[in-house]
Amino acid sequence: MNDNLWTRCNNCQRILYKQDILDNCSVCPACNFHFRISSAERLRLLFDDGLYELLDQGIFPVDFLGFEDSQKYAKRLEDSQAKSGLPDAIQTGRGTMGGIPVLVLSMEFGFMGGSVASVVGEKITRACERAIAQRCPLIIVSCSGGMRMQEGMMSLMQMMKTSAALARMEEEKIPYISVLADPTTGGTTASFAMLGDINVAEPQALIGFAGPRVIEQTIKEKLPKGFQRSEFLLSHGMLDDVIERKNLRNYLIRALRLFLNKPQ
Ligand SMILES: [Zn+2]
Repeated sequence: MNDNLWTRCNNCQRILYKQDILDNCSVCPACNFHFRISSAERLRLLFDDGLYELLDQGIFPVDFLGFEDSQKYAKRLEDSQAKSGLPDAIQTGRGTMGGIPVLVLSMEFGFMGGSVASVVGEKITRACERAIAQRCPLIIVSCSGGMRMQEGMMSLMQMMKTSAALARMEEEKIPYISVLADPTTGGTTASFAMLGDINVAEPQALIGFAGPRVIEQTIKEKLPKGFQRSEFLLSHGMLDDVIERKNLRNYLIRALRLFLNKPQ
């Protein structure tokens, strides 16, 4: 078997032809498992004809603290930038969805687990400012483990900064839709990912603040089945909807039309 043509679904363990998965929006055709996709793939799936313009590309991270754990932060950044081809863990796309001009921010899990530090916060804030100036709706697709510890307080303050920017969007009555992909955890959930006019998730996405292991150890109880997955959150009122990837684009277009009082 050619490794490049075939792959195994980690959920149903079936061996599948890679192209069949790609043709199905990177969802397993056998069991409907939603594979994690890159920020670029996400933008391509959402915008009309897969076309968009990238904005704010020239913002690069800084190692404020000279941070070092098992590896120097500067080295981690270098490696992640080389691997992903991106300056940091988010991309801002401008284009149209169903003919409606929209800004879509898409997080890149492949860049240090989609962690939020100064660049991600700045790009979200600039997108909010641009959305207000241009009266243009905003969508953020989160795929993030939370705040990036290597920038310490500079990362944590992005929760406040992005929340404040989104609060201004609300004052200006500019629609903001949050899409939560697997995984959306930590400070990402505790800030912009849960602040949408509507918050919708992909099926089976892990969504939470602290991880299930930390909670189990803290409360010394076994957690219920499906805890912190999209469907569990939906049934407990924490999400507005769970949408399969193949329907997501049309769902978002419909929501944007409702928010903007445009005919369906
Ligand atoms: Zn499968």
